[in-house]
Amino acid sequence: MDAGSRKNWAGNVAFRAADLSRPATVGQLQALVAGTDRIRALGTGHSFSDIADTPGTQVSVLGLPPEVEIDSAASVARVAACLTYAELAVRLDEKGFALRNLASLPHISVAGACATATHGSGLTNPSLAAAVTGLEMVAADGDLVTVGREHDWFDAAPVHLGNLGVVTSTTLEVVPTFEISQRVYEDLPLQVLDDHFADIMAGGYSVSLFTDWRAPRLTQVWIKQREGDTSKVTEAPWFTAAPAQAQRHPVPGGSPEACTQQLGVPGPWYDRLPHFRPGFRPSAGTELQSEYLLPIASAVPVLHAVAEIADRVAPVLQICEIRVVAADRLWLSPCYLQDSVGIHFTWILNPDEVLPVVTLVERQLAPFGARPHWGKLFATSQQALRDSYPRLPDFLRLMAHHDPAGKFRNAFTDRYLGR
Ligand SMILES: Cc1cc2nc3c(=O)[nH]c(=O)nc-3n(C[C@H](O)[C@H](O)[C@H](O)COP(=O)(O)OP(=O)(O)OC[C@H]3O[C@@H](n4cnc5c(N)ncnc54)[C@H](O)[C@@H]3O)c2cc1C
Repeated sequence: MDAGSRKNWAGNVAFRAADLSRPATVGQLQALVAGTDRIRALGTGHSFSDIADTPGTQVSVLGLPPEVEIDSAASVARVAACLTYAELAVRLDEKGFALRNLASLPHISVAGACATATHGSGLTNPSLAAAVTGLEMVAADGDLVTVGREHDWFDAAPVHLGNLGVVTSTTLEVVPTFEISQRVYEDLPLQVLDDHFADIMAGGYSVSLFTDWRAPRLTQVWIKQREGDTSKVTEAPWFTAAPAQAQRHPVPGGSPEACTQQLGVPGPWYDRLPHFRPGFRPSAGTELQSEYLLPIASAVPVLHAVAEIADRVAPVLQICEIRVVAADRLWLSPCYLQDSVGIHFTWILNPDEVLPVVTLVERQLAPFGARPHWGKLFATSQQALRDSYPRLPDFLRLMAHHDPAGKFRNAFTDRYLGR
């Protein structure tokens, strides 16, 4: 395929890479990396920017053998980088294991999702990358290296944005399999959050709030409860929100069939924690996305700051999702050392109309120390990123050490991280 004709999932980025290589073995991948001047890994292409692009060769690991090795005694699984969460989840569950949490969709590759600190929701659930205990990757010189928690720079590795090497496998913490049931509640006045944000977010194992900012109300509240803890998932109204009487989709006009089972019916973790089912196009399907992570203590003033510009946000918005994510220790994680609230925007697929509003949102959120999601659209300056990611200079030193010739660098790296 020609450069420019391959696109990301959303279709808003035409990759400039001259070619896409798909090695079938780790040995072939090593030879490719060693012999190429500029190279970058592509996962399942679900990021909304040029983060996975390169002026040289893009490499997909989706052709590598789909191995999963579970070490029950250590409660870890070594997962081939070609696997998506949908593929991995079924294989873990068959053996009686689970991951603590998942994102809103299981269609994304484990390697690509961890690289950008992808997350779900839950006061006790950190980003998916926080489950990483080890990585195997092909380094710039073509050597296959293993990075584990014994390395003093390990906390730089799981959220690497594709800058440290091409990951061939990720070792993840696993837990015994569990069941979840979820219910959707509808129509909660936004002002209820002023006094009850913490109670509402503590209302389940994973809670997501949705609003379209067209009125001061939450259109939907999704509560995912672990089985055995059914205190909140009932058919009674919750605060003043009424439980939905049928399956729902969070995006107006979306087909409920594309969503995981609701209505309080228990089921396996992997079939309830994501909102969207594999085999269907997730979310709106035609969209752009942005998301900002901020200190959880600022959640209420942050929502008021967005409410002030609701008349600018609503016309280009499909839906906004509010989640919480527990702190981690990963240098480039937006939740680095900080329990966070995530404000996510599913925009219309029109960059010209959306980008000015993204800039406006960032201006409103800047006083609260907003950290952008690396895999979504943002307009944050290099300086502001340095201010909000204290370990960014250390990460750049590490990049220079491991990739002195800048083989894995790309325009995204130059634009946002600098040197
Ligand atoms: C519909 C939709 C819903 C989403 N929902 C959520 C959500 O609920 N929560 C959330 O946090 N995010 C969400 N996202 C964002 C998404 O999780 C991230 O963009 C994620 O990085 C996508 O994974 P990917 O495999 O497609 O990675 P890609 O977009 O292909 O790549 C992302 C980065 O990872 C690097 N990379 C990929 N594979 C490798 C590898 N093997 N070795 C080294 N580097 C690699 C790439 O170079 C790039 O820098 C959503 C995106 C979409 C489209």
